[in-house]
Amino acid sequence: MGNKTCVVTGSSRGIGKAIAQQFGEEGWEVVVNYRSSRERAEETAAHIEEQGGSALIVQADVTDFEAIKGMREQIQEVFGQVDVLVNNAGVNQDIKFSEMSHEDWDTVLDVHLDGAFHTTQTFFDDLVESDGGRLINISSIIGKGGNYGQANYATAKSGIFGFTRTIALELAPHESTANCVAPGFIKTDMVEELPEPIKDQIRDDTPLERLGTPEEVAEIVHFLASDRSSFITGEVIDANGGKDL
Ligand code: NAP
Repeated sequence: MGNKTCVVTGSSRGIGKAIAQQFGEEGWEVVVNYRSSRERAEETAAHIEEQGGSALIVQADVTDFEAIKGMREQIQEVFGQVDVLVNNAGVNQDIKFSEMSHEDWDTVLDVHLDGAFHTTQTFFDDLVESDGGRLINISSIIGKGGNYGQANYATAKSGIFGFTRTIALELAPHESTANCVAPGFIKTDMVEELPEPIKDQIRDDTPLERLGTPEEVAEIVHFLASDRSSFITGEVIDANGGKDL
C-alpha cells in the first residue's frame, strides 16, 4: 500500500495513535493530527518513520474549520492528495442528563459532529479523486445502545452512523467508500479514567471478559482502508468483545 496518504485525526494518543502507527508500518504517508499533545504526536510520528512510513505532524483542532483547511494546504505541499481520512478525534464529558449544561452538550457534539463535517468537507474532493478513496469514521457501541451519563456522546456517535451511510451514497459513484467502526470499551486514556469498579463491571459484562486494545480497532480500520474492502460501503463494523448494550 506504499505511497498512499492518510489523515488520522486525533492520532497523538489512544486508538488514533494505533491506527496511524499501523499505516506507518505498511509504508504509508501518514498525517498525525492532534489538538494539544505535541510530544505524544511526535512519538507517533517517530514510530511511523522508524517503521518505514512517512509522517507529517499537523496541529489542528477539528472544531476549527479554517484550521482544518490549513491542514489540507500543509498536506498538499508535502504529500499531495489524500486517499484515506479517518475521523477518530474524540472527547467525552460525562454527566447525567438532568445536570448536563449546554456547554457539556456543545463540547462533545462540536468535536464529533462539527469535526466530522469540517474534515470530510475539506477532504471530500481528495476522496473522490483518489483511486480507492476511503472515509472511515470511528463511532462507538454507545451510539447504538446509549449509556447512563453520556447523552451528549451517544447522540454524537449515533449521528456518525447516519453521516457515514449518507456520505457512502455520495462517494459511491466515484468508486470511493465510507464506513464506520463502532468499538466497545477500549484500553485508552478515555476509559482508563473511569473508576475501577466501573471498569470491572464492563469486563464482567463483556463476553470476552476484557477491554479491547487500540491495535484491535486499528486492524479493522486497515482492512477498511485497503483494496480488500472494495465492495463494503455504508457499513458499521462492531469491535466490542461480544458486549451487547
Ligand atoms: P483518547 O485516548 O482520549 O484520545 C483522543 C484523541 O483525540 C487525542 O489524540 C486528542 O488529541 C484528539 N482530540 C480530541 N479533541 C480533539 C480536537 N478538537 N481536535 C483534534 N484532535 C482532538 O481517546 P480514544 O479512546 O483513543 O478515542 C478515539 C476515538 O474512539 C474517539 O472518537 C472515541 O469517541 C472513540 N471510541 C473510544 C472508545 C474507547 O473505549 N476508548 C470506544 C468507542 C469509541 P490531544 O492528545 O492533542 O488531546
